[in-house]
Amino acid sequence: SSLFAAVELAPRDPILGLNEQFNADPNPAKVNLGVGVYFDENGKLPLLRCVQQAEQAMAEAPKARNYLPIDGIAAYDAAVQKLVFGDSAAVRDGRIATVQALGGTGALKIGADLLHRMNPEAKVLISSPSWENHRALFESAGFVVSSYPYYDPATRGVDVDGMVGALEQAAPGTIVVLHACCHNPTGCDLLPADWDRVVAAVQSRNLVAFIDMAYQGFGDGIAEDGAAVHRFLEAGVGFFVSTSFSKSFSLYGERVGALSVVCESKEEAGRVLSQLKRVVRTNYSNPPTHGAQIVTNVLTSPELRALWEDELAGMRGRIKKMRAMLAERLQAAGSTMDTSFITRQRGMFSYSGLNAAQMQRLRDEFGVYGVDSGRICVAALNEGNIDAVVAAMVKVA
Ligand code: PLP
Repeated sequence: SSLFAAVELAPRDPILGLNEQFNADPNPAKVNLGVGVYFDENGKLPLLRCVQQAEQAMAEAPKARNYLPIDGIAAYDAAVQKLVFGDSAAVRDGRIATVQALGGTGALKIGADLLHRMNPEAKVLISSPSWENHRALFESAGFVVSSYPYYDPATRGVDVDGMVGALEQAAPGTIVVLHACCHNPTGCDLLPADWDRVVAAVQSRNLVAFIDMAYQGFGDGIAEDGAAVHRFLEAGVGFFVSTSFSKSFSLYGERVGALSVVCESKEEAGRVLSQLKRVVRTNYSNPPTHGAQIVTNVLTSPELRALWEDELAGMRGRIKKMRAMLAERLQAAGSTMDTSFITRQRGMFSYSGLNAAQMQRLRDEFGVYGVDSGRICVAALNEGNIDAVVAAMVKVA
C-alpha cells in the first residue's frame, strides 16, 4: 500500500478554516472579523510608509545575500534589545541573549526548545483562554501544558485572584506564558498593580516567566505596552521575551521577530546564546535577511523611526476609535448589552460576549465572520462595515 496510507488528516486550523469559509461566501456584504490582522480605514492591509522608504533605500543600494549569522543581523538584535528593554542595566551589562526569529511564533518555538533542553519535566501554564497556538507549540516542544485562570466572563475582565492563586500553587520551575499587552483572544490586560502580584508570585515560587509581546504599540504606546518587561527586569529574575513585528510593522509575511533571554550575567548570557544558536542551527540554520533589515533600518534611523512611531500611533488610535464607535452604535441601535467592556479592552481583539450559536448566526445570516469563542477583530472594523456588524450583533444578541 502507499507509504502514506496511514497518515490521518490533521484537523484544520480553526481560524484559517474560518478564512476559507469567508472567501467562499458569495454574500457581497460579508465582513471578516476572524483573522488577527490590522486593516486600515479602507479595509486594506497597510504597507507602512516607513517600510516603503526603507525598502526604497535598500533597492537603491542593492546588496548580495550571504548567509546571516545563526543569531541573525547583529544590529537587528541590538535594536530589538533597545526597543524591548530600553536603556536598562541588563542591556548595558550584556546580560540579555537575543536572537532574530521567524516572527513571534518562531521566537516562542526557539524559547520552548531551549527550555525543554534545560528541563524536560517542567510544566507549562498558559492563560485560559490563550492564543490558540501557545498550547500546540509548547506541546510540540515536548511539554505538558495546562492553564491558569484568566478571563472572567462575569466581569468581562481578568480573574486576577484566580490567576495569582494558580501561580502560587505552581511547582517551582513551571513555565508561565504571559501576554505583555493586548491579550489574544480576550483584549483584557493586567493592570499595573496586577503585574506586581504576578511578578511576586513568579519570584517567590521560582517560576519561569515567558512574556509573549506580539502587539507592542497596539495598546497604549510602545513604552506603556512594554511595562511588564521592566517589572520583571526590576525583580532581577531570569525570563524570556518573544517579540513580533508582524503587526507593529504590518510585515506579517516577512516573519520578523526575536527571542530575548534575560540572564544573571554576561557570561551566563553567552552560554544561553550558544544553546539558542544550536536550536536555530538544527532547525533552519539561520534566519532570512529582508524583513529584519527593514526593521533594523527603521528602528535605527531617526527619521524612519519617528515615521514608524507616528504610523503605529495611527493604527493604535484607529483601533480605539473603532472600539468607541462599536460601543456607541450598539447602544444607539438599542442593544441591551453593557458595552463598556469594549473600550476597556486593548489591542486588536474583543471578546464580544456572544456565544458560539450567536457567532454562527452572525456568519450564516449576516456574513459577519468572527471566532466561535466570541472573539472579533476590532482592527478589521471601519466606517464602511461597522453599521452592518452592529445591526447583525443586535439581531443575534
Ligand atoms: N503571540 C500572540 C499572542 C499572537 O496573537 C500572535 C499572532 O497572532 C503571535 C504570537 C504570532 O506572531 P507572528 O505572526 O509574528 O508569528
